[in-house]
Formats: sequence, structure tokens, C-alpha cells
Amino acid sequence: MDNNTFYMKFFYCLVIFFLQVVFVAQAQRVCGSTDYTQKMLLNNPSLKAGFDKAEEQINFTTTSRLSSVARDTSSNEIIYIPVIIHVIYKSTDQNLSTDQILSQLKSLNDDYSGTNADSKNIPVVFKPYAADTRIRFCLAQVDPQGKRTTGIIRTYTANDAFTATDGMKFTAQGGDNAWDSKRYLNIWVCKLSGRTLGYSTLPGSPTNVDGVVIGYNVFGTIGNLSVPFNKGRTSTHEVGHWLGLKHIWGDAVCGSDNVDDTPTQQYYNYGTPTFPHAGNCSPNSNGDMFMNYMDFTDDATMNMFTNGQKIRMRALFGNNNLRNSFLVSFACDSTLATGGPLPPVVTPPVVIPPVAAPIAASKKDTILTKLAIKSFAAKIFPSPAVSSVTVEYVNASAMGVKIINVYNVLGSKVLTAQLTATKTALNISSLIKGIYIVSIEDGNNKVTTKIVKN
Ligand SMILES: [Zn+2]
Repeated sequence: MDNNTFYMKFFYCLVIFFLQVVFVAQAQRVCGSTDYTQKMLLNNPSLKAGFDKAEEQINFTTTSRLSSVARDTSSNEIIYIPVIIHVIYKSTDQNLSTDQILSQLKSLNDDYSGTNADSKNIPVVFKPYAADTRIRFCLAQVDPQGKRTTGIIRTYTANDAFTATDGMKFTAQGGDNAWDSKRYLNIWVCKLSGRTLGYSTLPGSPTNVDGVVIGYNVFGTIGNLSVPFNKGRTSTHEVGHWLGLKHIWGDAVCGSDNVDDTPTQQYYNYGTPTFPHAGNCSPNSNGDMFMNYMDFTDDATMNMFTNGQKIRMRALFGNNNLRNSFLVSFACDSTLATGGPLPPVVTPPVVIPPVAAPIAASKKDTILTKLAIKSFAAKIFPSPAVSSVTVEYVNASAMGVKIINVYNVLGSKVLTAQLTATKTALNISSLIKGIYIVSIEDGNNKVTTKIVKN
């Protein structure tokens, strides 16, 4: 061919090559967590101690079960995480509907319980490793002051977009301040600049930034979402980081994610690979576990956590560990809020209900706790009370050692007692007036209820 034809062909090839690069780049998952952590460490090297401590706690707890008498997780206990969603919006499309937010909560719970519909696509050889993490998420029902809440805060911002530098986490920077990250998972939903879909802090980060940030266009499973990130898996992935998980390839060529049952992987996968997909360091012909939530594949391809990842995540909640305080975070239970649960949403036409008759004194003095996870029940009465309440078990045989803890609405423990009889008096005269949360637990089961001290 002559020179002109050659250069024309060369030019077209170049254009096609760059178009492919741009196309592939736009379709790839971009998680900002690794970059974010590296920048944090550059700006503040002292943070490394906190990250190392978290890693130590995870490794210690996953390798040697703690045998302390204090509150620890038990193997199959469901850990409830109250979530506060900070919606930071400039335009109306960024101010996501409550239904869209609820769709994300459902998707998180499906993925973390292994009940996601697409778990049927897990390759047969990987199925034995798929886990129900026994971690569940609720929209917070009680705010840090003990008042009732929807778990959603909507904040207008003048900012066009946020970078992965935490501006959305501070009211002073056009965002919204974090709630107490010892008791709530903070999720900020906003417009992120560039191609970052979301990012998370590592366990051990400063408490005022601890949490997860997700782009408004990849949050939930309904609404105006950016394909192929429209199945809520950006949140599943980033919350995985918040719970101490690393990327499945360990952020290094053939690196380690410190989880035993995820196969070593050469690098990340993106898009929609087909099984089996092996790389240079695959341990066998099954290849990469590219359908793991901690890879970079498209939402429709991801469908599992492993048992090893489950153990790593749950280790954070062990006794004395960083997220242990969530075991006594009661913000998922709306009946514990001052004023009780939010009234149900009334759809038009509005009907004003008649004023309810006062509750008869005989019914008022007994509270029978009702919680989904319980194999026993207890009555605590009277409430309000001045100096003493009686705790009575309905079926005491279901319990082992019975510990009663009393917390104030801020989650601080104010009283502890061990109960020895099915009907025991508890002295509350030292408490100041107010609402308290009483938790009766034996390490495996827990019931909670509210009492009022006068
Ligand atoms: Zn990530």
C-alpha cells in the first residue's frame, strides 16, 4: 500500500483502539477505597496504627476464639447494623425517593444473607463456600438523642459534585455530619466526580469520617440508575470494606485478601467474565471467584461472599473489638425511641383517628418484650418506676446465664446485674429520671425493652 493509505489505516486503527479503551474504561467498576486509604495515610501517617490495630483484632479473633465472660458474638447470632442514610443533593434527581433507598436496604440484606435471587448462578464448585453472613441492616429507628427517626436525612448542597476527600461528611463543607459511628453505619449518597462509584473507610479510621460513600446513580435497584451498576452491589462491596474485607486479589498481583477460601487471583476482573476464568496464580482449573462481591465485575455478575469473608467481617464485632459496640446498639428497634415508633404513613384521604382512651393502669405496668430473635421472653414491671423493677422470665429454662444490662438512650451502660431467680427485683434508685433500655442476654439470645425511671 502507498504511504497515504498506510497512514489512513493506521489513523483509523488508532481511533478504534482509543474508542475501545474509552468504552471499556466507562464500563469498569471503580472503587475509590484503596486510593482513599493511601491518601489518608499520606496526609496523616499516624492513622496506620488504627488500621493495624483493626487488622490485629480481626486476625486474633478469627484464629483464636476469645473466652471472656464479657459480651462476645456467638457463632450464629444475627448482628443488626442500624444505618443512617445521608442524602446530599443539589438536583431533584439526586434526592432519591424513599422507595429507592429501601430497595438498597433490601439488596444489602439479600446479599449479606445469601438469599439474593442470583445466588443460583454461583458455579457448583464455589457453592459450598457461599455464606449467610448473619449480618443484617435496618434504617435507624432511633436517633443519637433517643428520638424516633426514619433513618434518612436529606440535605441540600450547593456543591455540583464531591470528590473522595470526605467533603460530604461535614455540614461545614456542604455535606452532613456523621452520626456516632460506634452505633450507626453512616452511608452518604451524593454525586461523586469522575468515575468513582463509591468508597469506604477502613476499620480504625477517625470516627467522624467512618462510613461509606455511594454515588446517587448506583444506589439501590430501582430509579434512574447507571447500567451495569444497577443492582445495589456497589453498596454491598463498599460495606464489605467497612466490615474489614479487602479486594479479592489483595490489591497486588496474586496478592492475598487474608481470607482462606477465596482462590488466589492475579488481578481484578471487570465486566461479565464466564466461568471458569483462570489466571497465572489460580490454584486450580476453577480459576477466579470473579462472582465475589469484592471483585470489580458488573452488578449482574456478583453474587456471593464466602464463609472465610463472613468470619473476617464478624471478627470486628468480637469482644473488645472495633465494632463490638454494635451488639448493644438498639437503634433498629423503633419501640425504644422516645415517643415510640413513627406513626404509619397515612395516604389520602386523611382520616383523623379518634383520641385513644387512656391505657388502664393494670395493663400499663407490664411490658412483654417482643423481638424476632428470641427463644425466651421476659416481663419487666412496673414502668414508670422510682426505685425498683421486677424482672420475670416467661420461660426461664430457655436461657443460660442471665445477665441484665441497663443502658441510657445514648447507649452507655449504667447498670449490670446477674439474675438468679425467675422473678428478681432490680434496684434502679441510683438512676436519674428518664428512659432506659433493659437488655437481658445470655450470649446467644437477647431481649430488650424500655423502662421509664421517675
Ligand atoms: Zn473496593
